[in-house]
Amino acid sequence: MPSKQNNQSGQPTHNKSHPSAPASVAKASAGGNPSSRRGKSKPNAGNVASTQSKQTGNRRPSGQRKPANNPNKQQESAGNGMLKLIPLGGMREIGKNMTVIEYGNDMIVVDCGIGFPEEDMPGIDIVIPDFSYLSSNKHKLKAVFLTHGHEDHIGALPWLCKEYNVPIYGNKLTIELVRNKLNDRGTGVKNADLHPISDGDRIDAGVFNVEFIHTNHSIADANALAIRTPAGIVFHSGDFKIDYTPIHGGPADLARIAQIGAEGVLLMIADSTNVERSGYTSSERKVGETFADLFAKAEGRIFVATFSSNIFRLQQIFTAVEMYGRKVALLGRSMPNVFNAANSLGYIKMDPDTLIDVNQIDKYDADELVFITTGSQGEPMSALTRMAFSEHRKIEIIPGDTVILSSSAIPGNEKPIYRVINELFKRGAHVIYESLSEIHVSGHAYKEELKLLHQLVKPKYFIPGHGEYRHLYKHAELANSMGAPWENIFLLNNGDIFEYQNGNARIGGFTNAAGILIDGSGMGDVDSLVLRDRLLLADDGIVAVFIAIDSKTGEIIGQPDLQAKGFIYESEVEKTIVECRRKINQFAAKAASGNKPLAAMISSGALRDQLRDLLFERTRRRPMILVSVIEI
Ligand SMILES: [Zn+2]
Ligand SMILES: [Zn+2]
Repeated sequence: MPSKQNNQSGQPTHNKSHPSAPASVAKASAGGNPSSRRGKSKPNAGNVASTQSKQTGNRRPSGQRKPANNPNKQQESAGNGMLKLIPLGGMREIGKNMTVIEYGNDMIVVDCGIGFPEEDMPGIDIVIPDFSYLSSNKHKLKAVFLTHGHEDHIGALPWLCKEYNVPIYGNKLTIELVRNKLNDRGTGVKNADLHPISDGDRIDAGVFNVEFIHTNHSIADANALAIRTPAGIVFHSGDFKIDYTPIHGGPADLARIAQIGAEGVLLMIADSTNVERSGYTSSERKVGETFADLFAKAEGRIFVATFSSNIFRLQQIFTAVEMYGRKVALLGRSMPNVFNAANSLGYIKMDPDTLIDVNQIDKYDADELVFITTGSQGEPMSALTRMAFSEHRKIEIIPGDTVILSSSAIPGNEKPIYRVINELFKRGAHVIYESLSEIHVSGHAYKEELKLLHQLVKPKYFIPGHGEYRHLYKHAELANSMGAPWENIFLLNNGDIFEYQNGNARIGGFTNAAGILIDGSGMGDVDSLVLRDRLLLADDGIVAVFIAIDSKTGEIIGQPDLQAKGFIYESEVEKTIVECRRKINQFAAKAASGNKPLAAMISSGALRDQLRDLLFERTRRRPMILVSVIEI
């Protein structure tokens, strides 16, 4: 009885952190109150808001049409008949999307992305989902299905693939990006079982059958998934928008979505990112028109900053470039990755001569050049930021240049972006950014597109996904406004175990899903390592430790020297240094008693780790720690 085990192991330890205590849910679903609530055609919103955190159970007891159908007894006999859906990431956050779907002894995973740390975690370390639920159900895992190739959906695969060798299915560009990622030095993953699929393909995995449905998004080859299970169809929207005039691949397959809706969908989990925005997203094609206008006016060089993964945007830049007889050079380390993957699949239509190497730019006049660059979010190490601050090795921004920021600010990035924009203006560039012109469209459905999806899919149960809490909540409201009863809408947290059995749905427990922080020494690229060091230095300063060791005796000579800069106030430094010295001497004593060479033990990083823990404990800061050993 796997279901019961999970409940028992998950519940007690995590009860505190979860506001929606499952105990109350269980009671509610067994109790009689659904019928009284069911009677209300419009549950009032205030009520819902107030029950939100404390007793979500009140409005979710199963929605069973036959309240007499008490689940308690049947649960015992139908242990294998339970469908579970467990988000291990992506709930109440935008990032590290990963969902487990389980039925009996079979389990599949949808997406496996990275997230970025909360503000209180230093540096730009990344966060991956907690895989412990997978390891305790290892034998059940049949396959991984990917909705598209964005980092928040595929970025954690290197860690997953290290532990599990299961088939991974995704559309062509998605799999190409995964392949490149896994081939990177440092991941150590060999022979991953990758399977590129096409729109419309249906894949069997254990009891599941997964159909890939074409949708639109800000990367090519995005899919929604119709997951057929013995309990019914689970529809996973992936990240999507509806674009009737996309650049590549055709409009989202609304006809197929409608057919699946007509078959009857048990449960839908859907993208909530843009639920706050009313109306419809503009078509990606709109941006192309803006590019054409801007390119017609530009007299000097043109720089376009955008996300390297948005190949539609790249395509439209190439189209405008060729329209005006210019050449393109790509700037920024990450820029070629997705471009090359997409180009190898023939997704980018261009004359091969249009793309030139950045070393060739001197052969061309200013009005013949376009640069596509990273840095649309003001990232400190990006090509655009470096050019803006005259730190780029090859290119400087000069009067007459046009710089187009073809992106919108990810919330929280406004400050660095405007810092870069100010700097570009100072250098005499003509800067065009979103608030001035239609140079970006979103890849996530707005309200009216979400309504269309709900109307086509008509799920019995609904779980808003891919959003912060307010997005999920607003999406729940939207579904409810279209007739979904409150008790059939589940606002999950990461790790909540949604269970469906015998016509009843509930949150049956939870598992670890707090996210695992990976420090930059893992599989990050060099840029992010440098940036992390910079941020560490800026935020928490540096502590340098110098230790002289007698090469004959292996003992410390004199007192270790410590220097702290930008770390804590002078007045506190002395006390902290004394404690650090004590720690160093303890470390040396331990090495001596264990008959181990001190210098080697220090260079293993063990001393640095101990000092870091000590300093964090005393000061709540994590300065960069440099330990130098001089053997005399
Ligand atoms: Zn995406
Ligand atoms: Zn996403």
